[in-house]
Amino acid sequence: MLNLYNYSRKKLSEILDEKYGKKPFCATQLFEWIYSKKISSFDEITNISKKFLDILKKDFYIAKNKYIKKIESQDGAIKLLIELVDKNLIETVILPYKYGYVLCVSSQVGCNMGCSFCASGLTKKKRNLETCEIVNELLIANDILSQKNEKISHIVVMGIGEPFDNYDNVMNFIYIANDPKGFGIGARHITVSTCGLPEKIKKYANEKLQINLAISLHAPNDDKRSSIMKINKCYPLKKLMNAIRYYNHVAKRRVTFEYILLKDVNDSFDDAKELSTLIKGVFSYVNIIPYNEVMENNFKRSDKTQIRKFFNWLIKFGVHVRIRKEFGNDINAACGQLRLKKMKSDEKISY
Ligand code: SAH
Repeated sequence: MLNLYNYSRKKLSEILDEKYGKKPFCATQLFEWIYSKKISSFDEITNISKKFLDILKKDFYIAKNKYIKKIESQDGAIKLLIELVDKNLIETVILPYKYGYVLCVSSQVGCNMGCSFCASGLTKKKRNLETCEIVNELLIANDILSQKNEKISHIVVMGIGEPFDNYDNVMNFIYIANDPKGFGIGARHITVSTCGLPEKIKKYANEKLQINLAISLHAPNDDKRSSIMKINKCYPLKKLMNAIRYYNHVAKRRVTFEYILLKDVNDSFDDAKELSTLIKGVFSYVNIIPYNEVMENNFKRSDKTQIRKFFNWLIKFGVHVRIRKEFGNDINAACGQLRLKKMKSDEKISY
């Protein structure tokens, strides 16, 4: 049995042609039913013959995931804890920006990248998410927003997991999100964030979509980066920066460098200076991220004055820079915090 949410329209078209000799229009019809009319069962379909629906029912199913917890922040951010069929848990977060609703989706159950400041890495990767599970994050978020006649307009793949460690499923999801008959979200409204896997960055550059790329940089040199991000030991900055230049050149698009400010780790004047030298000539801007403290480690966020100083130093060095608006501080909105909390409370119960 095949989950209908796993396929892009192109792929579904190929399957329907191969299996039953159907024209591409049939895939478009099915997409309209599942994504526009949001049906939960084949029985709701009225413009496909009963005979063919019976055949479809034997090979395909339409399964939706459910959220088991919804926490709303005072600032409007909504964090959802979703239970998967195998009882694994993932998080997805709705962020209400002025320009629209942004959904921060997870791409894996847990994460193996081992960034020492991040809550997601504390639980290790259990498995990749299937395309249908990422699609379901978006379906659930739109379901919730439909109560106020709103819907998700932007996607950032910045939740739990390393998207480039689950490349095909994430790209497949993006094709569905971007498809006018899927969710119709513009490519320029979709961003994938990676800790920096050079080969995948190059592959991404060759995709024929105008999607955005964000790089979790967080340090201005190899020593510092390796001390907080394990991935830097495999792919040091030289390799990473080469892949990013390739992306600039081939995709002709700007990258965003994400830079969490950690007190006394990467927030000094020298760090700002070194950062500006590192990214000189790269078509980019830096997004300074105030750190969301995690109970399980000792990293502290840089205070407001230091954040402002760092911002001004970068401007002085000619760097395009922004400070990211913060959401959901009261609801543990940082990557993986809610899932970790739930897992820990479950552990306590079972002891
Ligand atoms: N693995 C991908 C995407 C998931 S993490 C990546 O590394 O980019 C998404 C972003 O949130 C990354 O920039 C990550 O470094 C950052 N992040 C993780 N924990 C955080 C925290 N506690 N506070 C603020 N940002 C955090």
